Amino acid sequence: MISLNSNQINPFFKKVKNPLNKQKITVLQINLGKRCNLACTHCHVEASPKRTEELSPEICQQLIQLINRFPQLETVDLTGGAPEMNYGFKPLVEAARKAKKEVIVRSNLTIFFEEGFEDLPEYFAKNELRVVASLPCYLEDNVDKQRGKGVYNASIRAIQKLNQLGYGNDPNLVLDLVYNPPIPNNNKFSLTPEQINLEKDYKTFLKDNFDVCFNKLFTITNLPIGRTKQYLQNKKIYEPYVQFLESNYNEQTLDYVMCRNQLSIDYLGNIYDCDFNQMENIPATLPNGEPLTVETLLKIGNLDVINDIKTADYCYGCTAGSGSSCGGSLI
Ligand code: SF4
Ligand code: SF4
Repeated sequence: MISLNSNQINPFFKKVKNPLNKQKITVLQINLGKRCNLACTHCHVEASPKRTEELSPEICQQLIQLINRFPQLETVDLTGGAPEMNYGFKPLVEAARKAKKEVIVRSNLTIFFEEGFEDLPEYFAKNELRVVASLPCYLEDNVDKQRGKGVYNASIRAIQKLNQLGYGNDPNLVLDLVYNPPIPNNNKFSLTPEQINLEKDYKTFLKDNFDVCFNKLFTITNLPIGRTKQYLQNKKIYEPYVQFLESNYNEQTLDYVMCRNQLSIDYLGNIYDCDFNQMENIPATLPNGEPLTVETLLKIGNLDVINDIKTADYCYGCTAGSGSSCGGSLI
């Protein structure tokens, strides 16, 4: 287990007492690469239009084999960067839908207005993809500060388009939005707001002002990694922020953290317990210490081969208050 080089932070592995163990794997989260049409300040992937890392055809084929081979997989969750920008996006969607899996696409929505991607809303609807889209605030100013000028208006236009196709109303066309708080500027930290109350505020504001609707709001805590970590370090509030998260540690969240039942896969086919470990380059391993890959899983013919989850001090971000995951608060 990994500690964040600080004398002041109580290491996460000491806090949890027993190592976190893996449960039956039901979710495959695939990161198709780091290319994105945006370059948001909070991005833990550090994605941008300049990044070139992406899924190779060989790994894409291995992933399709994995999807077809294991009926226990219920959900294929496609993320990036902007996953839609990778050539493997549509082959993976179609393989997973054919195998009757739920498919989630983590979309930034603004991609709908980039040249060559205008067909995406209809494609999402035709394949009944569950769309999970970041809208870090319901107010324009806050969104444009985090994600870039014009992103708010483009996101609203994209939601209008999805609504026209049935998203938010048709039970088979689910659109969820993601809130993440602004990164703190000083050492006055606060926990992510209560998901249910914030969802009501979002729904009312967006309906009244733009006549748009969505299904659920997911509230997410900023984990102190990637660009967020650099930012906090520049402001000299990195350690106080981790300590703040630690002081709000909630043991009840441990049963629900997303690493328990998912495998996170990078564009090279390496396997991690979650997307955050992927970004921090902490691979999942077999009990003998060998790092896991998609190729190894196909050879072994078993998805449930990891005993202990690799944890680090940023896990306090998933376990503070009501908890946090790619599906919002945990309890
Ligand atoms: S849209 Fe998402 S992947 Fe792209 S830069 Fe922003 S946070 Fe990162
Ligand atoms: S960062 Fe969160 S999801 Fe990842 S290993 Fe830690 S607790 Fe689990």
